[in-house]
Amino acid sequence: MTGDSTKSVHEAEPFDAETGSVTTPIYETSTFGFARADEVPEAVAHSGLKGYVYSRWDNPTVVTLEKKLAALEHGEGGVAFSSGMAAISTALFSFLKKGVHVLGIKDLYGGTYGLLRDILPAIGLDTTLVESSDFGALERGMRKSTGIVYIESPTNPTLKIVDIRKAANLAHSNGAILMVDNTFASPVNQNPMDLGADVVLHSVTKYINGHADLIAGVAVASKDNAHRIRMMRRDFGGTLDPLPAWLILRGIKTMALRVKQQNASAMILAEFLSTHKKVARVHYPGLKTHPQHLLARKQMRGFGGMLSFEIKGSAKDAMKFTESLKLATLAASLGGVETLVSQPYDMTHTQLSARERALAGIPETLVRVSVGIEDADDLVEDFKRALAAL
Ligand code: PLP
Repeated sequence: MTGDSTKSVHEAEPFDAETGSVTTPIYETSTFGFARADEVPEAVAHSGLKGYVYSRWDNPTVVTLEKKLAALEHGEGGVAFSSGMAAISTALFSFLKKGVHVLGIKDLYGGTYGLLRDILPAIGLDTTLVESSDFGALERGMRKSTGIVYIESPTNPTLKIVDIRKAANLAHSNGAILMVDNTFASPVNQNPMDLGADVVLHSVTKYINGHADLIAGVAVASKDNAHRIRMMRRDFGGTLDPLPAWLILRGIKTMALRVKQQNASAMILAEFLSTHKKVARVHYPGLKTHPQHLLARKQMRGFGGMLSFEIKGSAKDAMKFTESLKLATLAASLGGVETLVSQPYDMTHTQLSARERALAGIPETLVRVSVGIEDADDLVEDFKRALAAL
């Protein structure tokens, strides 16, 4: 199996010869019984592989999803979580110990930024956050004690691109690991493990599930690293429940179809916006004018469904614009079938001071768009009308 759609449909879900079911059952059970007491030690030692013990450890529906996600991210093992942040925090703690320094970029998702800026230092761990679009800053941020390099690409909300292969080489030359949050790109557009990443993280809430109806996360890694994260999950406890795992197994089947349409529509919308007189700037890695377009071309197969743009005018104009849209909804989050817009300045990036937001290129007039699967013409029409209202 090589294609994303083929894997999304068939990986880890062979036709069930016993019942004929073409989908995986929901094993909605907290615990697993044993007919014989001598079966217990084997199940405890090889939970998820040779039997099951307790659903915080492993569950058959969740394990099916984990195998599919590992295959889609070109890793050997997947570990599913009850949220993207549970995946990120547990994966980080799996590799942290006293004295380990964590190096990250500034343009991280807010929750991850908070972990690195506040929570880890509060328990005595050193972290450094550097400019995302300046690779030299990442190089200069490395210390002898750096054990984890943590990046996202494209970044939120200004769609900067970080060179994943170079970041992996930098981390490895120091004996560190590279963790990449691949939520914005989705496994359809980019596979960081092929570029040298050690752990790939997703808010499964977004493109992988794709229907804005649940919260979940995953960490994908080599067999050994996935095992390490799985053991940490047992004790941290952020395991995914079987019911949302089953919904994700359903949502994921159309992931490649959805994402390809979102790539195409985002390009059309970005081109339309970049010629509009009421738009000051468009951030989309697919545009030739994007400062890292060539790097995006090198490491991505598609440029994704996320873009952002600055409206010419005031914060009030940006608000009027988002309120005037009829198809697109003003809401946080991304990656679903419906187009969402958000105003990062006072919705998703309030943990940054006004100065930090200015330095990060997040003015009050910035609008972030998560392009859905509506017809591109309808989306362009909606945006055109809302801009005309200004
Ligand atoms: N990473 C990125 C890039 C995100 O956008 C988000 C959520 O918006 C997360 C991680 C956190 O995921 P979750 O909300 O599923 O915990």
